[in-house]
Amino acid sequence: MSYCVNCGVELGAGAGSCPLCHTPVQNPHAVPDNDAPPFFPTRHEGVEPVSRRMAGLLLSSMLASVALCCGILNLLFYRELWWSFFPGGAAVMLWVWFAMPLLFRRLSAWCRLTLDTLAIGVYVLLIALAVHGLDWYLRLAVPMLLCAVCVCPTVIWVVRYRRLSILSSAILVLLTAGFLAAAVELFCDLYLRGVWRPGWSLIVLISCVGLCIPLIVIRRVPSLREEARRRFHV
Ligand SMILES: [Zn+2]
Repeated sequence: MSYCVNCGVELGAGAGSCPLCHTPVQNPHAVPDNDAPPFFPTRHEGVEPVSRRMAGLLLSSMLASVALCCGILNLLFYRELWWSFFPGGAAVMLWVWFAMPLLFRRLSAWCRLTLDTLAIGVYVLLIALAVHGLDWYLRLAVPMLLCAVCVCPTVIWVVRYRRLSILSSAILVLLTAGFLAAAVELFCDLYLRGVWRPGWSLIVLISCVGLCIPLIVIRRVPSLREEARRRFHV
């Protein structure tokens, strides 16, 4: 058994050169045999990665089969209630969330997020219609969803297209989270009491602002910014 003097890889009996680093073999006890079969396999064996389109089609078929099975079961059991609309609606929502980005790559992040939120809206509407809760849907769910549709894509657009740094993005996301918490409490209070009494959302908002202050200081002071970049490898 011989080994390459340069890289140490094991050599075949009749090898004239190293198959890895191509260093010529100088072995007086082994005559090079160029017709000998290669000592190492020359074909690359590996499983081809699944394409995004195939993964999307697979996920779509899984979700469609779940919805179809629930529909068939609904026709056989508990026919007085159309319960299959709930898993069916969830399957449609999951398809919009996960399968659609795989199948349609050209959709922008803004468009995807809007469609994701709309899918939640349609699904919640389905539930509201089933439980006769159109009142809470219109007065509570719709304002929250509209708020999310307006705020979240805007934040993504600002982060992506204005090419914000990680620090600036973190500040923006924290402030948005605080604002959304305040908006959620506002809509809940208006629906339940008719008047806005800020409570838990104020704590969330103050905490977010409190977290933003050191980030703003770090962003403004170049030496601190460099130190943070070195420590966190950003
Ligand atoms: Zn070698």
